Order: sequence, then C-alpha cells, then structure tokens
Amino acid sequence: MNPKWNGQFSCFDLVARAGGKTGDRTRTVVKVRDIEIGGSEFVVIAGPCAVESESQLLETAEAVAESGASILRGGAYKPRSSPYAFQGLGVEGLKILRKAREATGLAIVTEVMSEDDVELIAEYADIMQVGTRSMENYALLEALGGCGRPVLLKRGMTATLEELLRSAQIVAAAGNPQIILCERGIRTFETATRNTLDIAAVPVLKAVSHLPVIVDPSHAGGVRSLVSPLSRAAVVVGADGLIVEVHPAPEQALSDGNQSLDFAEFRDMMDDLQPYLDLQRASRQFRPQLLASGGAD
Ligand code: PEP
Ligand code: MN
Repeated sequence: MNPKWNGQFSCFDLVARAGGKTGDRTRTVVKVRDIEIGGSEFVVIAGPCAVESESQLLETAEAVAESGASILRGGAYKPRSSPYAFQGLGVEGLKILRKAREATGLAIVTEVMSEDDVELIAEYADIMQVGTRSMENYALLEALGGCGRPVLLKRGMTATLEELLRSAQIVAAAGNPQIILCERGIRTFETATRNTLDIAAVPVLKAVSHLPVIVDPSHAGGVRSLVSPLSRAAVVVGADGLIVEVHPAPEQALSDGNQSLDFAEFRDMMDDLQPYLDLQRASRQFRPQLLASGGAD
C-alpha cells in the first residue's frame, strides 16, 4: 500500500485494510438475503429516487429484477433542498417497499435520515442508506451501530475519503461492521454535471479499506445520458456494484427525473455493462494463474 495512505487511514482500525508487512485482512463481504456485496459478483441496486405509489414501485421492481438487479432502492423519507418539494411517503412508502420485496424477492435499501427512525426503518429495510447530507450525522451513525442491518454509507458531497472512513469507523465502533461505501460524486467547480464522480475514490477506498465500494452514477452525473458511461467506468476501476435510479416515466418523477432511466434504458445499460463485467472477471481469474506459473518456474 502507498505509505502515505497507510499513515492517513490506519487510525480507522475497524475499517482500514492492514497493509505492508502486517499482511492483508480479509475483505468484508456484506450478506443480504442470498446476495453478497463485496464478493465475486457485481451487484446492481436499482429503483426510483422516491417511492411514489404502489404501482410505480411494483412495476419498477419487476422491470429491474428482470434486467438483472438484485436489490431495489426507493426513498420513503427524502432529504430535499426545498421544504416545498415532495418529502416522501414515510411509513406508507416503507409498506410499499415491503410489498415489492414480497412480490419480487428483491432485497430493499431505503434511506434513514434521523436516529429516531432507525428502529422503524430497520423493520422494513434489508439495508439502511445514509445519504450524502447525513454522512456526518454522528447521532444517526451511532444509532445505526445497533440496528442489525447493513449500512450503505454515501460519501458526503464535500467530504474527503478520510472523513468518509471516519464515519464508517463510527458505525463500526458502535457495533456494526456491515458497511458498504458509496461514491456518489462530490462538489467541485464544474457545473456541467450535478456532481463530479471521483472515480479514483474507488481504487483508493479498495486499497485502504476492506469494505465493499459501490458507485452511484445517477447522483454523480445528474443527467440520464451519463449513467451508462459512468457505470462502465465504475466496473472498470473495480467497484463492487452500482446504485442506479430507474422510474417508469422519468419525466413525471416527483424527484430526480432528469437522472432516472426508464425501463428500456436500464435494460440497455445492463446489456452494455456485460462485456466489461466479463473482462473484469476474466482479469481477476487470470492474475492468480500468472502468479502460480511464475512460482513454478
Ligand atoms: C438518493 O439516493 O436519492 C439520494 C438522495 O442520494 P444522495 O444522498 O447521494 O444525494
Ligand atoms: Mn435521488
């Protein structure tokens, strides 16, 4: 490992990957139902930004499952920049998510914004999402330590990787080592995209931490046409999965319609990813063989 990183991140002992002479620590594989995040499979999480109605979510769940997603996303509690924007359906949304899980077998990820909601949301969700605006909500992070569910921790939009890992350490220290890190783009001077996808964050996080790392191309790019190319980039740099926004009619979505794919676009994106996933898999299998033959000579 880069000696600079070793010094910078080793203080987060519960989430940092031991480097150098001390040897590697096994990677964390987060298990949700029969899905493994951070294992050998690339995991795709897909669904609407917000749960809007039963038909919207069920239709989306069926469509994304058919195209190869294994986890359904959908916000029931939405952090919005305007008090007049749709705030989510709350408990009603959680019940709809549960129905979608029963109908499709997909696992569920949904956002939790307050420590007061942790217990309730944990009854419905398979994975608890911490949004970019909550990455430094320490009361929430501590409450998630005892929630009994894996945590999907999104990088704060102005957070360094050190700060992201500090938040992960807080969740782990509070008793929950089941954490998935998510790069979702950061604020920079660039305005053509909603955020700047820090693609280097993926290999850096995988080098310095043993936690799985996924990418959110939807909130990074902020426009539909960027979702597929950014997803490809995520595969190529070694991400463990994606979280993608999909809506039956993006132009009518109550939130984040501009960056949501419709069902056909999501299917095309999944097809488009396949050769890159095959290449990644092949290169992973090839590497140990090279080492083995090197040793035999
Ligand atoms: C979301 O996933 O819909 C969301 C609000 O994401 P972020 O917290 O990354 O903005
Ligand atoms: Mn969104």
